[in-house]
Amino acid sequence: MRARIVDKNDILKIVDILRKDHEVIAPFQGRGRDSFFDVVTDANRDQVKMHLHNPYYPPKRYVLPHIEKLFDIDQAKMDVKAAYVEPKRAIFGIRSCDVHGIYHLDRFYLGRDYKDPYYERLRRGLFLVNVVCTDKELDIDNGCFCMCANTGPASTEHFDLQLMDLGDVYMAVAGSPKGEALFADPIFKRGDDSHVQRRRSILNEVRKHFKLAVNWYSAAVRYITTGQVPEELWAQVGNRCLECGACTYLCPACTCFTVADRKVDGKVVERVRLWDSCALSGFTRMAGGHNPRRAVHDRRNRRFFRKLAHYFVQRELSMACVGCGRCIDVCHGDIGMPSVVEIIRRGCAGKENDSTIIKR
Ligand code: SF4
Ligand code: SF4
Repeated sequence: MRARIVDKNDILKIVDILRKDHEVIAPFQGRGRDSFFDVVTDANRDQVKMHLHNPYYPPKRYVLPHIEKLFDIDQAKMDVKAAYVEPKRAIFGIRSCDVHGIYHLDRFYLGRDYKDPYYERLRRGLFLVNVVCTDKELDIDNGCFCMCANTGPASTEHFDLQLMDLGDVYMAVAGSPKGEALFADPIFKRGDDSHVQRRRSILNEVRKHFKLAVNWYSAAVRYITTGQVPEELWAQVGNRCLECGACTYLCPACTCFTVADRKVDGKVVERVRLWDSCALSGFTRMAGGHNPRRAVHDRRNRRFFRKLAHYFVQRELSMACVGCGRCIDVCHGDIGMPSVVEIIRRGCAGKENDSTIIKR
């Protein structure tokens, strides 16, 4: 990977360069802790933030829109017309956890024999400018645990360009030929060993500020994969779920959707794809009304099985959790990923020891 140095005052010129042939999305500060991704315009360009709390609403909607038209059906002519769109977009300021979230969606929607043509078109024109989280007050939330998920704070792949604040300058690392092509612009200057040393020591320091930097995942993966989590424990988790769906909607690694038809006018019906959530009872309800997962805890255990079971880890090459911490912040029942993993680890540890002793 090649790297260059960019003066701090020039950093938003990268947005300007990208805007020549992309719609650029970047993070902005909202009210209080709130932040959001939005399209950069001439009017808001100077308000783009390099350091801020990662927006709750993840940038996955730029490859998997909340509501996406798939095709129109003209009922009179019995004609079906696909509604493909292929925008050229750049996400400037995407955090490392969310870069991995998009990579997870890539493996789900493009990684096997069937490639989703809608996702493929949105992904093809997407340019990712990853910003490394280095400011312990502004970038790192209490719930961030990217280090446990091995996704951050500095992503090592899956971006086109990565920017890291070194104090008076930024280090820009190219992650793809498209990213490296930007280095032709004179704002990108050659660095030296002192920049590499500074990057290393800043990262070492930043890593100390992740409170959950322990590797407790592996035990939960083992207990879930081997079916050792008792039903009562899932019921305990399920009883705390209010079925709001927020954890799945805000999760950058959740992939589920449903399809629906809606009438546009007298003759044309539009088929749309919408985000769905395993937290909602309709997710598994079948035609005729039968629901194999009627109990809340039956659906909650499904979420954690899907994210942590070894079968899926093998198939998708990683857990379906990138450590962004959003489900910790939004869950009213305090059953975000770390809490549930801890409940499982504590609830199963004694039992495993007992059975090991018996087998010996
Ligand atoms: S955010 Fe919490 S309460 Fe809402 S569906 Fe998810 S687990 Fe249930
Ligand atoms: S499970 Fe929670 S912490 Fe993990 S990626 Fe999804 S929202 Fe983020």
